[in-house]
Amino acid sequence: MVTLPVTIVCANCEHEHRIPERPLDRDRGGTVCPACGERGYAVRHAGLQWHP
Ligand SMILES: [Zn+2]
Repeated sequence: MVTLPVTIVCANCEHEHRIPERPLDRDRGGTVCPACGERGYAVRHAGLQWHP
């Protein structure tokens, strides 16, 4: 399995982290912010910011 260097930014608290750092939320499914626990986030590739 290849892990791309993708940084994600929490939509709630703007905490920057990487996908592998996100803990799984087994109750709701998917991953959550390690800082605040919210699920929303924006993907930020190296040097490139995405606007969803
Ligand atoms: Zn957060």
